[in-house]
Amino acid sequence: MIDFHCHIDLYPDPAALIREVGADGIYVLAVTTTPKSWSHLQQLICGHKRIKAAIGLHPELVAERFGEVEEVCSIAKETRYVGEIGLDGSPSLKDSFALQKQVFERILERCCELGGRILSVHSKRAATEVLNSLEAFPKSGKTVLHWFSGTRTELERAIKMDAWFSVGPAMLRSAKGRQLIGAMPRSRLLTESDGPFARIGSSPILPNNMVEAESDIAKIWKTTPEDVRSKIHENFRSLVTGVEDFRD
Ligand code: MN
Repeated sequence: MIDFHCHIDLYPDPAALIREVGADGIYVLAVTTTPKSWSHLQQLICGHKRIKAAIGLHPELVAERFGEVEEVCSIAKETRYVGEIGLDGSPSLKDSFALQKQVFERILERCCELGGRILSVHSKRAATEVLNSLEAFPKSGKTVLHWFSGTRTELERAIKMDAWFSVGPAMLRSAKGRQLIGAMPRSRLLTESDGPFARIGSSPILPNNMVEAESDIAKIWKTTPEDVRSKIHENFRSLVTGVEDFRD
């Protein structure tokens, strides 16, 4: 199974979860919300070849942490993965939107300098603005739009721009989410938990809940969960190809 967007260091007992994920053989992209958690995350996942860390600065935290952007840019040298980055156009974050854009574009510019990265990108209520920024930095790498919730027109534009998509149980619960997933190219789809922020009922979604995501995607694709798993693995391999990590 693949969990391509998980805040693994933010669960109550990350070390125990990392052991479970290891035992289950799940591949995890461990995204960060601030560069301050980078070294701790590195220690946590050390020795776990199926878990890779992405360096990020979450748009929700930009108002208070914009000063950390150069730290992100510096750490981006050490990893092929950058996330969680992006823009959030929620009304509560309106005041920081201009700053979010500066931070996002500075990180994209850095990714271009470094020859491109694999990006896990947040675009809640800001899909058009995110796509505008990505278009302005075409050499920033391969973009995975996580939990995409834009319009169909924005989705079509993202597809034309060669974006990938990571989707999870939270998105699969809504009719709009399922419709968007149905319109995403099957060859560019990955699964994600977005845990512990994303929840099922009162419990945070876990990497092994990707089982349910696979079976929900199977209903949309009108195929078997096994077929979905194999397709998602094939996609994952194709996305991270040439990357000297995520080895078994
Ligand atoms: Mn997230």
